[in-house]
Amino acid sequence: MLRVRDVSVSFGGFRALNAVSLEAPPASITGIIGPNGSGKSTLLNVVAGVYVPDSGAVTLNGHPLAYGRPEQVAAAGVGRTFQVPRLAHKLTVFQNMMAGARDQAGEGVFNLFLRPGAVARCEKEIASRAEAMLKRLGLAHKANDYAGSLSGGQQKLLTMGMLLMADPAVLLLDEPAAGVNPVLIEQQAALLHELKAEGRIVLLIEHNMEMIANVCDRVFVLDAGELIASGTPAQIRADERVVRSYLGM
Ligand code: ADP
Ligand code: MG
Repeated sequence: MLRVRDVSVSFGGFRALNAVSLEAPPASITGIIGPNGSGKSTLLNVVAGVYVPDSGAVTLNGHPLAYGRPEQVAAAGVGRTFQVPRLAHKLTVFQNMMAGARDQAGEGVFNLFLRPGAVARCEKEIASRAEAMLKRLGLAHKANDYAGSLSGGQQKLLTMGMLLMADPAVLLLDEPAAGVNPVLIEQQAALLHELKAEGRIVLLIEHNMEMIANVCDRVFVLDAGELIASGTPAQIRADERVVRSYLGM
């Protein structure tokens, strides 16, 4: 269970999040919606260990996550993607997957010096996992293309694949469907359903209400740093305050 309890975050005198709480159980997809500037990415950054909250707590299975230490949070099984995909454009798709595995695991460099034999075996295993993951994402035919040559939607799928190489228990996804064509959005949604079936916790920031309705078990609505509603997608769509502040725009 991922728990965010009464988290507040300020930038200078500006309060970006005010006492926000949410819970996300295993095998679930939790949507976070709200207007631009409402604090969605800030919330993700707190959970990912990028920002230190002024107050409140974030726990995974009862253990506090390390505030301000994203590598430690990643090592604890929390992976995240960014609103704008972070890829090495001049490396191939396959090389990005390999680099992603190393980054996410965070321990590759140690093994490299200590146990070269084990690392060679390990690299082989990672390579075959990368291959299998690219197949799963429908990107196998792009393995040897430069990542920079992929479409925006394919780049987003690739960053999800890189993330999954570390087998995270929690996935934090920041607007994966933004700027992505409908066919790839369908593919993302199918992947999210699979990740849920595998028991993972998915937090999904998204403006695409169709995707939210298709995949989310529960939705939390932020407005100006405040949580104004939570419930099933159907409940959220029927909530007057939500319609006024966001959906009715
Ligand atoms: P959202 O993702 O919902 O669009 P953000 O979480 O990115 O919103 O931002 C919430 C508010 O906090 C915005 O007003 C934004 O300008 C501000 N903000 C976000 N990050 C920072 C930062 N690092 N420094 C100062 N202000 C920030
Ligand atoms: Mg954002």
